[in-house]
Amino acid sequence: MDDLEYGMRNKRGDWAPNDPVEGAPFWAWPPKFLKILAWLPGYVWPWNAFHMATALIWWFYIVPDIETLKTLSFGWAFYLYAVNAAAIFAFYGSVELFWYVHRKQGTRFKYNAKFPGDQPSDVFWFKSQNIDNFLRSFFFSIPLWTLVEVLFLWVFANGWVPWLTWTENPWYLALLVLIAPMIHEVHFFCIHRLIHWGPLYKWVHSVHHNSVNPSPWSSLSMHPVEGFLYHAVAFWHLILPSNPMIAMFQLHLAGFGAVNGHIGFDKLELTDDLPLNTHAYAHYLHHKYFEVNYGGDGLIPLDKWFGYWHDGSKEGDARMQARFQKKKARLNAKAQG
Ligand SMILES: [Zn+2]
Ligand SMILES: [Zn+2]
Repeated sequence: MDDLEYGMRNKRGDWAPNDPVEGAPFWAWPPKFLKILAWLPGYVWPWNAFHMATALIWWFYIVPDIETLKTLSFGWAFYLYAVNAAAIFAFYGSVELFWYVHRKQGTRFKYNAKFPGDQPSDVFWFKSQNIDNFLRSFFFSIPLWTLVEVLFLWVFANGWVPWLTWTENPWYLALLVLIAPMIHEVHFFCIHRLIHWGPLYKWVHSVHHNSVNPSPWSSLSMHPVEGFLYHAVAFWHLILPSNPMIAMFQLHLAGFGAVNGHIGFDKLELTDDLPLNTHAYAHYLHHKYFEVNYGGDGLIPLDKWFGYWHDGSKEGDARMQARFQKKKARLNAKAQG
């Protein structure tokens, strides 16, 4: 594919899309129904459908029976960890293998022309972004993901929270499935904005931001505090009346879905003429500029409402520069006063 039909490459070889990142269309007023209808298939397919499919596979084939879930034990907790870890190894690992090791599409559609594997740096364990990110994912974040999973399954199995059934509440539960990605967006925005607060940033979130040029292994490379808060999004289904299957979907949106912002390519060329849109640009800009785009790609436009939105356009850049200037002036005035 010719990536220059879709974007531009600068002198350093970094590629950027021509079109700004567009948020979900239902926030426009007056409502544009045709635009919403045209947007819906992309909302479901392929990413959210994939996360739903894995949630169903887990629920029907992986999760132990309810009697087992009633009692906490290392046995089934470790088994769930092993499955989660194996799945992430296969899923993130295949993107890493084909696009970062074999580099099957070179730097076509790649935001940053450099590959982390070629860039040793002291900020990482063993000076390697890949090894550092990999170890943090498998030794901290995936165990914490599993901890969240074990806890909500245990609570549901013991009947300590409402467990709505599909036969009695099909419409409500279907609606909950539909808005689960929005719950993710709000939860992620809130915890993410929180850990960008100075002291918490230094202590917790800087670990994730060591990867200025993220790759798939960066997705879950987090400090344990962030690793837990991030996956704790599934606990919303212990507060809202829900069903463990949907809690599992919510968890997979976080665990498997983390890769979306960190793929590093705008499109993955699955075949010569079948591109997969990654939706990675908004979060790539977050890794590049730090203080923009705390949420995802504008499903709920929290970043717009708070003034943090950068859609990749010149105007977006100007807005960000103006905000940074203001902040600098404020800090200088404080330092002098
Ligand atoms: Zn990130
Ligand atoms: Zn951040």
